[in-house]
This record gives sequence, structure tokens and C-alpha cells, in this order.
Amino acid sequence: MLAELRGLNEECGVFGIWGHVDAAQIAYYGLHALQHRGQEGAGIVTQHEKHLHVVKGEGLVNEVFSGNEINELKGQAAIGQVRYTTDNGRGIENVQPLVFRSTTGNLSVAHNGNIVNAAELREHLERQGSIFQTNSDTEVLAHLIKKSNGTPRQRDRVKKALSMLKGAFAFVLLTEESLMVAQDPNGLRPLALGKMGDAWVVASETCAFDIIGAESIRSVEPGELIIINKDGLHSERFAPAADAAMCSMEYVYFARPDSNIDGINIHSARKRCGKQLAREVNIEADVVTGVPDSSISAAIGFSEESGIPYELGLIKSRYVGRTFIQPSQELREQGVKMKLSPVRQVVNGKRVVMVDDSIVRGTTSKRIVKMLKEAGATEVHVVIASPPLVSPCFYGVDISTDSELIATGKTVEEVRDLIEADSLTFLSPEGLLKSIGRSDEMKNCGQCLACFTGEYPTEIYTDTVLPHEKEIVR
Ligand code: AMP
Ligand code: SF4
Repeated sequence: MLAELRGLNEECGVFGIWGHVDAAQIAYYGLHALQHRGQEGAGIVTQHEKHLHVVKGEGLVNEVFSGNEINELKGQAAIGQVRYTTDNGRGIENVQPLVFRSTTGNLSVAHNGNIVNAAELREHLERQGSIFQTNSDTEVLAHLIKKSNGTPRQRDRVKKALSMLKGAFAFVLLTEESLMVAQDPNGLRPLALGKMGDAWVVASETCAFDIIGAESIRSVEPGELIIINKDGLHSERFAPAADAAMCSMEYVYFARPDSNIDGINIHSARKRCGKQLAREVNIEADVVTGVPDSSISAAIGFSEESGIPYELGLIKSRYVGRTFIQPSQELREQGVKMKLSPVRQVVNGKRVVMVDDSIVRGTTSKRIVKMLKEAGATEVHVVIASPPLVSPCFYGVDISTDSELIATGKTVEEVRDLIEADSLTFLSPEGLLKSIGRSDEMKNCGQCLACFTGEYPTEIYTDTVLPHEKEIVR
């Protein structure tokens, strides 16, 4: 039952700005551009005259800020988050940014990722008297900062607290004096730094900069803490950079095609994945089609390289929510049906190559193969622009459990049989790295590939819990 209730967790998106009179308004636009990273909660905190002001709620950015809320958020600095929640993380108290008021100074925090030693740290803090208000890992950081009160400078307290965390985290913190931005030592989650006139901005993805007319400067480095205050920007380290391991699923599925991560454009990387696939397999077919929206880039690449014409074989309804948050397999299958429709004129009587970015449970692929055949396709060849997903993610992307991943413990032929395709091809891990533009040496390649390979870039603690399992341990 629990397995049925779990959804596939999309990550969160964070945004921060320092030094602009319209900080809250800009944060709103920034978060709007990051909406694809989380649709269940949104919030903005601003700093004005030594106070932190917060507006947050459940729902989309434009639902949370549907009235005059933005104008109430005064100040020249802001942080914000769009959030996807697991079952356990629902409720307004878990919507970020979280605000902590204390005699030693007020603090607001928003976070993207998953701290793998959070349960351990939380237990330790609770034994020392900390009382937690939320289920969120983010609160652990706030308590750790508070605990290092003996350290006089706030930035040193933050550094000390950050150095105790393990896993994936991109943090934005707003205090009465500064905006702080931190990236975990492996750089697992994307976090970019930009400039908008004299103001500094940070965001999970650079598409948030484009919408506000900011210039992208660089990625926040692994193990780096950036402090922005009235004296300007200072970069410090809270930990030495470990082997870089940016999440590969960002390139495969999560990030928006117009974003760049570490200077690599997402659409271009996906297109190269499609081209690489066409080099890795030889299929005789009449048309190539992609599953909207995340697979279109790869489908174009496959078509260009194979010479098979690209066609609009599937249409997506704009007005249906995400498939994965449907509570049961049966409802999820109906969700796919409502969301996608085949273009009969394109596929009828044709041998179709259907490109998708990934297969998780197999629901989407199976349904689409059936749908295309019902619309008259004579053959459906499924081509996946990533390797088979076989292991769970411990870094904030709730790629379910092994048992829910269709490819775990199965051969490609067995998966093909289950989705009833005429052929099934996955991109090789080497091909994915090459297409992203990293080294094709699997070790120290700069990318995390753990959900494809089972090799994790950080320690995984014995008490590490997957985001969706947190309700079990507490
Ligand atoms: P499934 O039907 O469970 O195999 O899901 C496959 C679809 O989910 C693909 O078309 C992807 O675009 C999308 N997808 C891949 N990874 C995730 C994730 N972690 N969360 C939500 N959707 C995903
Ligand atoms: Fe991304 Fe997969 Fe690594 Fe998780 S395990 S961070 S989804 S590449």
C-alpha cells in the first residue's frame, strides 16, 4: 500500500536575490520559471529593516501569490522555493523557505536536495534538546547553526554546520545582514550565480535568469559558501571539493531545455543523446516521434542522425497534471491516457520510432506503445535517451524503490516484452556522458550516474532513508 501511495518525487527549485528594490517581484518571476521543479508549494521570504517577512502556501506560484502578497513583501533581498513534497512532507509547515527566529538573529532557509545523514543528525540534536517544527531536512541545518553559538561570526557558524551535512544540498539562506548560498561538496544539485545590474541572483536553473534579464556568471562550486552583503560578494569554502557528481537526471529529464548547467545547454545535451542513440542502434522505420515535452530534443537528434523524418506523432494536453502523482497504478495509467494523444494521420500504417527520455515504472511507454498501435502504427520501436534506471536515488530525486523500477533485475528483452514494443533500446552510460559533454571515463566523470549504475558518489549511511520512506522511521 505504501508503495502505491508513493509518488515519484521531483526536486525543488530555489531562488535568491540581493540588492534590488523589487526583490520579491523578481523572486516571483524567478520561481515561476522554476515551476517545473515543484508544483505543490511555493514561498518567498524578504529581508526589510532587520526583519524577515514571509509569504508561502501550498499550490503553484501564481496560486500562492494570487493577490497583493508580493507588494506586502518589502525589502531588497529575498529567497524563495518551489517545492515538490512526498506524502510525509505535505502541510504548510513544510513549505519553504523556513524561518527561524532567535535571540542570536533571525534566519530563513530554503533547500534543494536530500541530506543522507539527516536522521542521524536529527536524533543527535533531539537528544540535546532541539525541538523540530517540520519533517524537513532543511531544519537540521538551522538547528546545527544555532548549536554552534560559541562561534562568534555567523558565517563561521554556517560553515561549521554545513560541514556536518552529507549528501546533496543546494541552500539559500537569508539573514538580517546577508544572503548566503551553499553547494554540497559533490555539487549534486544545480545552482547558478548571476548578476542583474548591481544585484546578485542565484537560482537552481539559469532559465530563471533569462526571464528576469539577469546574466549568468557561473555555477556555485562544490563545497563553496558564497556570502553576499553590503560589502559585496565573498566566496569561502566549508569543505574541500570532492569528486564532482552533478545529477545526470537533470540533463535527461528535470531541467528546462533553455537552461544551462555548468555551461552545458540542456536542449543541446538531449539532442546529442538522441544522435548518440542513433549511432548505437540501427532501426528501419518511417517516422521518429518524441514524447512531449522532455523527449522532443532527443527525438530531433535521433531523426537528424538516422535520417528518419521527425514527426509530431503525439500531442500533450496542457491542462492535465503530472502522471506520477496519481495515487494508484490504475489511475496513473488513466493519467497517461488523458495526457497524450496520438496523431493518427502521422502514425497510421507507419513503422514508428518512439523516443522517450527515461523509463521509470514503464507505465508511460507501455501505454504509448498501445496507443500508437491502436492509431495504426505497424511497428513501434522504443528508444530511451538514458540508460535503464535500476537503483534508487538518495539525493532528493525520489526515484522510487528498486521494486518499482521496471528495469531492476530484468534484461532489456524482458522490459521490451513488458511494454509490448517491437524493439527497445537504451542509451549506454558512456553514451550519456559523452552526450552531456563529460569525459566518457566512468570514474571522476563529473556526473552522478548512481540511479543507472548503483555506484553512489557519497557514503550512504546505514540510517539513510529515501525521501518517501521518511514516514516509516518517524
Ligand atoms: P514511467 O511511466 O513510470 O516509466 O515514467 C516515465 C516518464 O516519467 C518518462 O516519460 C519521464 O519523462 C518521466 N520521469 C523520469 N524520471 C522521473 C522522476 N524522477 N519523476 C517524475 N517523472 C519522471
Ligand atoms: Fe541524479 Fe540519479 Fe544521481 Fe539521483 S542518483 S542525483 S537522480 S543521477
